Amino acid sequence: MAKQARVVVIGAGVGGVTAAALLAREGFAVTVLEAHVYPGGCAGTFYHKGYRFDAGATLAGGFQQGGPHQIAGDLLGIQWQIERVEPAWVIHLPERSITRWGEEAQWRDERAAKLPELRHFWGVQERAAESAWQFAARLPEFPPASLGDVARLATKIRPNLLPISPLALMSMGQLLNVLGVREPNARTFIDAQLLISAQTTSQHANALYGAIAVDLPRVGVYHPRGGIGNLARQVGEALTAHGGRLIYRHAVTKIVRRADKTFLLHTNKGNTFEAEIVLANLTPWALADLLGEGAPPALQREVQARPSTWGAFTLYLGVPNEALPTQAEHFQVVQALEQPLGEGNSVFVSMSSPHDTERAPQGMRAVTLSTHTAIAPWWALRESDPEGYQRRVEQYRDKLLDAAERVIPNVRQAAKLILPGTPSAFYRFTRRPGGMVGGFPLTSLFKVRGPQTGIENLWLVGDSIFPGQSTAGVTAGALRVAAEVARSVAYQRRAFPTPRRAESIG
Ligand SMILES: Cc1cc2nc3c(=O)[nH]c(=O)nc-3n(C[C@H](O)[C@H](O)[C@H](O)COP(=O)(O)OP(=O)(O)OC[C@H]3O[C@@H](n4cnc5c(N)ncnc54)[C@H](O)[C@@H]3O)c2cc1C
Repeated sequence: MAKQARVVVIGAGVGGVTAAALLAREGFAVTVLEAHVYPGGCAGTFYHKGYRFDAGATLAGGFQQGGPHQIAGDLLGIQWQIERVEPAWVIHLPERSITRWGEEAQWRDERAAKLPELRHFWGVQERAAESAWQFAARLPEFPPASLGDVARLATKIRPNLLPISPLALMSMGQLLNVLGVREPNARTFIDAQLLISAQTTSQHANALYGAIAVDLPRVGVYHPRGGIGNLARQVGEALTAHGGRLIYRHAVTKIVRRADKTFLLHTNKGNTFEAEIVLANLTPWALADLLGEGAPPALQREVQARPSTWGAFTLYLGVPNEALPTQAEHFQVVQALEQPLGEGNSVFVSMSSPHDTERAPQGMRAVTLSTHTAIAPWWALRESDPEGYQRRVEQYRDKLLDAAERVIPNVRQAAKLILPGTPSAFYRFTRRPGGMVGGFPLTSLFKVRGPQTGIENLWLVGDSIFPGQSTAGVTAGALRVAAEVARSVAYQRRAFPTPRRAESIG
């Protein structure tokens, strides 16, 4: 084939736009089709009445040396516009407040004073996280999908993984039991952090993944200036600088695989795009919808068998600067130790940086509150009982504001603007079926999902593939997918020309 391989990426979430930019840098002719008018998806920032609210994600990790954002940024020539957040956040349990300092000595003193029950935990966690970060920085082909992947993966394994390998086989709950940690405050402290970074609590979360998940404050969390959406915006600029295109307001409505194995993508604007390679920054459910009867049987079985993932209920507040605490900018509030987390019992409260004047009218700050919620009750009520649905929105608004009182006294009076976001809003603005967000719970490292779809040259990217949720996680996934695409094109040389430039990305 004389022409260069055309790649279409469906969606400019952080995972999609990063994979797109990496492939454009490799010389592929890349077009990103984004349904919305700005990039970022769940890690996007939207304008409302003079505020720039972070829609979902508010804090980003992975900028440390060897972290996914650092690696992708270096490859793409991006100078990240970010500000380190210190302390990372404060966790308010009903009777204890713990500050997650990034600074080592402060964090050591804090945990010794506030979480003595976990004294044997931190040594194991930090050693495991350190070795796992080093392994992740070698961009392992995990989960492996071919013998070639296994061979490449094997070259990236080092002896320091051996002592932590038992953690790959156990849950965080089992690890805590082995270490004798039964005290409810200590367990809930770990659970609250796992819920936001592994989508499940210690009973089910894999211990090795969990060790990294609770390590984020130590390696550093950051505020992108102008809002978290600026991460995807900066990557989008790198994409165009490397010759790619990013087209907004174009939702892909159908993917057709033609007899010659190329793809035809239809959009809601009545346009069609041809491609040899397609990357879907989508959940498996959304991909199966777009393929319709063309969805491979394994993908159809997957979407029928998989339980739905979490949704989110959010509140966006405009609050005067003087009403906000100065101790930290991010908080997690747990209201009751004896109740399951999520559904308003665990609420993340994030404030725009006081130095970031772009985010709010003068003297004000943009605040995002969020909690995990099961999506089914929302949709059932929305369809059968609109008044009941409205009451539920109000109940959740009240639960989140009650939790926020712990951080912002008199928040109801102080807030000049309160805007709710339900799973149906996430569905509308990110097109994720049912408003399911955050990817799959990280329970077993041996059951994680890779980027394969069952159709050659059609790949998934985003938080449905390992390592899953977070801007850092989807960037790690994008690095892997871009490397796999480049490799598989080189392998199918007869079908595709060599990319314009052949610098390796993995
Ligand atoms: C409430 C909440 C809080 C969170 N907090 C954090 C946090 O603090 N830190 C963190 O790192 N992570 C956080 N996350 C997780 C993080 O936001 C996500 O894991 C990550 O942003 C997902 O990226 P993605 O690449 O999967 O793309 P998505 O965010 O799913 O974006 C997909 C994009 O594709 C577009 N699209 C979808 N369908 C189509 C179509 N048919 N045609 C064209 N375009 C389409 C959408 O418009 C969207 O822009 C949070 C998530 C939520 C919901």
